[in-house]
Amino acid sequence: MDRPPAMFIADSLGLDFLNSVATPVDTPVDWLDHGDGLVDWLAQAKLVPAEELDALKARVRPGELDKVADQARALREWFRGFVLEHAGRPLTGKALHELGPLNSILERDAAFLQIAPRHGQDGLALHRKRHWQSPESLLLPIGEAMAKFVCEEDFSDVKACEGHNCTMLFADHTRRRARRWCIMAVCGNRAKQAAHRSRLKGRQ
Ligand SMILES: [Zn+2]
Repeated sequence: MDRPPAMFIADSLGLDFLNSVATPVDTPVDWLDHGDGLVDWLAQAKLVPAEELDALKARVRPGELDKVADQARALREWFRGFVLEHAGRPLTGKALHELGPLNSILERDAAFLQIAPRHGQDGLALHRKRHWQSPESLLLPIGEAMAKFVCEEDFSDVKACEGHNCTMLFADHTRRRARRWCIMAVCGNRAKQAAHRSRLKGRQ
């Protein structure tokens, strides 16, 4: 299926994951609607190295990635419920009891460190890597992005785009916390045009 590139406009990867289903023009697009979509989204999000994705794709049985995409969508919609419930005010420790599903993903992680050449210069550096043993391991970097968002983002800054019928969420990191739109050129302009039209109507 031909579809636009995934959108990374939330200023937070945990929220970009929620925005992996959206209505960029008129038709809803779910970038995670099947296994290949999930793999593409992970590559675009730079959450899994391209060569690891290729290797995994070559070794899984048909349908296995589709099953993981089903799990990713279920995880996404569970997380959307959590985020929408808590958005707009600082998250407190009381929220922890709701985060069991996320902690159980983190518990499965097979991350490790390796000494490797330093990028762009001579010397050595520690690199974080993961064993990508099973298709389900594709959920691990997503879980990590969600967990970072939960622990590091101020939920007071989490906002929903004001666009009509727009479902996009973002973290407002502007200095005056004045961000209103997912993408100004899309929802901002649409709202301006609608306001303009209603002003014209009012004059008639
Ligand atoms: Zn929007």
